[in-house]
Amino acid sequence: MDAELLRQYLEFYQDLGIKTLYRQVAPSIIIPMDLPPLRKVGQALPPANPPANPIPMELSPLAPTGDTLLKIMEDIGDCHRCRLSAARNKIVFGVGNPQSPLVFVGEGPGADEDAQGIPFVGRAGQLLTQMIEGTAKKEGIELLRKDIYIANVVKCRPPENRTPEPDEMEICGQFLHRQLLAIRPKVICALGGTAARALTGHKEGVTKMRGKWFQWQDIPVMVTYHPSYLLRPYNQDAKREAWEDLKKVLHYVYD
Ligand code: URA
Repeated sequence: MDAELLRQYLEFYQDLGIKTLYRQVAPSIIIPMDLPPLRKVGQALPPANPPANPIPMELSPLAPTGDTLLKIMEDIGDCHRCRLSAARNKIVFGVGNPQSPLVFVGEGPGADEDAQGIPFVGRAGQLLTQMIEGTAKKEGIELLRKDIYIANVVKCRPPENRTPEPDEMEICGQFLHRQLLAIRPKVICALGGTAARALTGHKEGVTKMRGKWFQWQDIPVMVTYHPSYLLRPYNQDAKREAWEDLKKVLHYVYD
């Protein structure tokens, strides 16, 4: 294998959130993937076209050729890969149009989502639905929640709604990454700091990142506030800003 192909493999695995590889010939040796950032994640709007030389998909057992949401769901199965499985009721896989040009990514299920197995169905979810449908309508775009796709960084509810731990995000992240590769949306909208950091690799807080374009692989990512944050009565400015962010997203995708 030449160096360029190897680099592409490593980039691909890194995009899937995998930080460590094991050599088949010498299983005891761990090769840390200490690669430079894959792509400079800038603030300018990234190009909408896929790269000329895409990473070969057939190479990864984690993202099989012809991967589908159904296959990913089957692979997740009755998952016990991390500690979040211990207290969950339902795995919250994702919901919506599998061909959507727009995917929203939240942090992780809350109590309502855990009970129903559907993301964003509690109060924050109702606000998200209102925001999507209300903003679209105001902007003259015909769009309902069912037309887009919604998923989370982790698929099981963290106890007491705590922030998911890095290892939980890494383990579960491989499935989100496969979902995103299978859907290949035109834009991803990261809801809140956890999703923003997981998708972009940036470490800043959401107030710094919101309203700006980043990239996940070659897909533009818009960061905005998490709807739970917007539910707090003293966050009215943030609400206005989130509406602005959403307008940018909707016009980018649907104009
Ligand atoms: N918060 C999230 O981040 N995701 C959900 O699905 C619900 C609330």
